Amino acid sequence: MTANPALSAGPSPLLALRSVRKVYGEGAGAVEAVTGVDLDLMAGEFTLLMGPSGSGKTTLLMMMGCLLKPTSGTVSVAGVEVQGLPESALPAIRLRYLGYIFQGFNLFPALTASENVEVALNLKGVRGDAARAAAARHLSRIGLESRLAHRPEDLSGGEKQRVAIARALAAEPPVILADEPTASLDGATGHRVTELLRQLAREEARTVFVVTHDPRILDLADRILHMEDGRIVKDERK
Ligand code: ADP
Ligand code: MG
Repeated sequence: MTANPALSAGPSPLLALRSVRKVYGEGAGAVEAVTGVDLDLMAGEFTLLMGPSGSGKTTLLMMMGCLLKPTSGTVSVAGVEVQGLPESALPAIRLRYLGYIFQGFNLFPALTASENVEVALNLKGVRGDAARAAAARHLSRIGLESRLAHRPEDLSGGEKQRVAIARALAAEPPVILADEPTASLDGATGHRVTELLRQLAREEARTVFVVTHDPRILDLADRILHMEDGRIVKDERK
């Protein structure tokens, strides 16, 4: 026996799921949305999750993001098993490790694009001019340099989606979780966002996990998971 299993097991996953299940409701009306998923996500990986509507993708993503508690099983973030922690410890874990790019952009309507991103930086302790400069950098990275002072109502759906992406990336989370991030984007912009996500995985050693139906993303992924009826039925590495 090795004293420290981490030394013999190679690099440890940023996110690890063991026998994760989710049952919504009770009794006759209960729905088993996720039926037992084991998954390790390593730094540097760009992973896609595909599958028909209702197969449990969003439920799985929410549990990976520690936004939804599994009915059973465990989720570990950077080696820490979340189920062992008090509920009050979760916000700090989410803030430090997890970035969310979810549907329904949840931008603050009264704030400009820049301010929406600055809020995420403020939570990390970056303020004032430093936050403004970083927000401009993150927004420029996805082609919104001319929209910094626009409010959400003056942005197109695709632009709002990109502000939400910039906000998620501004906090520089090691784990990035995205639900259909390119669904509302045109071809060129969708490609640009996908390239950016891949670059974050490859060059910045993060793990990027994307739920998508978008065939344009397939070629860029390192790993493709297929989900059906609450379980992962195929796990391909390229
Ligand atoms: P997908 O994202 O693949 O479309 P979901 O995770 O949204 O799948 O849903 C998986 C299953 O769980 C579906 O049968 C759905 O109706 C059900 N479901 C999702 N959310 C809830 C909820 N809050 N309450 C009850 N059932 C839900
Ligand atoms: Mg979904």
